Amino acid sequence: MKLSKSQRLKVFNKYGGKCSYCGCELQKSWHADHIKPVVRDFNLVKGKAVLTGKISNPELDVIENINPSCSSCNLYKGSMSIEAFRNLMQQQARIALKKSKNVRFAVKYGLIQITDNPVVFYYEKFSSQENIGTNVVGSNFLSKSYV
Ligand SMILES: [Zn+2]
Repeated sequence: MKLSKSQRLKVFNKYGGKCSYCGCELQKSWHADHIKPVVRDFNLVKGKAVLTGKISNPELDVIENINPSCSSCNLYKGSMSIEAFRNLMQQQARIALKKSKNVRFAVKYGLIQITDNPVVFYYEKFSSQENIGTNVVGSNFLSKSYV
């Protein structure tokens, strides 16, 4: 769904201007993520994906199913469910440990510690009462028409 400017402002401020997953401050490049994924249909034209405008599950293409996300979380999540994304995030330290000599040395020298702490997304910890008035701006990240 194409969000209107007011809908985009509402989504931006949903968690105090922070990414609903990692909790970082949203930058100008923030994304509107479908919590339950919407899969867009496309055709390959000369090796490039061209969207047809059709989606597999239009009932999920509603503002209630949209969370603000930093671009890196949104692009990594892709069309995964929340639990698939959580499982993948849960494995990140082990994957880095396996693939990176730098991480292995950092662990060996006590610079970082690998834990099995559960992945809790920012929106799951967020309490709107605690965050009222903090970083609810959005005007720099939307359009000058909001200023
Ligand atoms: Zn994020």
